[in-house]
Amino acid sequence: MMERHVLVVFPHPDDETLAAGGAVALQAKQGSTVTYACFTLGQMGRNMGKPFFANRETLPEIREKELHEACAALGISDLRMMGFRDKTLEFEDPETLIGIISDLLAELKPTLLITYYPGYCVHPDHEALAAATMEAVRRLPDNARPKIYCQAFSRNHETDLGARDVLLDTSSVWENKYRAMKAHKTQTAARIEEIERALAAGGAQKEQMIAALSQENMYSYRV
Ligand SMILES: [Zn+2]
Repeated sequence: MMERHVLVVFPHPDDETLAAGGAVALQAKQGSTVTYACFTLGQMGRNMGKPFFANRETLPEIREKELHEACAALGISDLRMMGFRDKTLEFEDPETLIGIISDLLAELKPTLLITYYPGYCVHPDHEALAAATMEAVRRLPDNARPKIYCQAFSRNHETDLGARDVLLDTSSVWENKYRAMKAHKTQTAARIEEIERALAAGGAQKEQMIAALSQENMYSYRV
């Protein structure tokens, strides 16, 4: 179903692609306006490309450029760089983050919100932002709350949460997601090599890889 406005909230350049690239591209293709509020530049990322082509000084600039490319591939027309530093969100006053997200919700009135599943997203930046995002939604009146899709990837998530209930056929946009993954090349080189190998091999290997990229599952979430 096409959403009027989709708000995507994640802390790092590449979260939008790796956690929800198919869902985002699918909405954009159907004509939704997509805003990505990206809270940091991933300055502290340990991956510098393979072979290395970034260093601690150049990484933020390179990752911002990668993000712009990925957004173009996914159809994200409104990219908001929120200007926090990587690995610092957990130390922010939660009210600061909640306030920023509340402002975005008030401005954009999204019908769909995409973020991480609080408690099941591992990284402290992910957890801090997911918790603040859900709190901001909780403060909205019932009838003003967007639908929420979440991604989870902690080791225990399936035991606790069960299987994902939002099953998206992303076959019409798998190439967009793949292009976005390639755009984030400081972070994704190893995975890209694996995909390229499968696609080049043809036959069943290629089919399996395309099938894997053509399905994206998430959790629905109620505050
Ligand atoms: Zn991340």
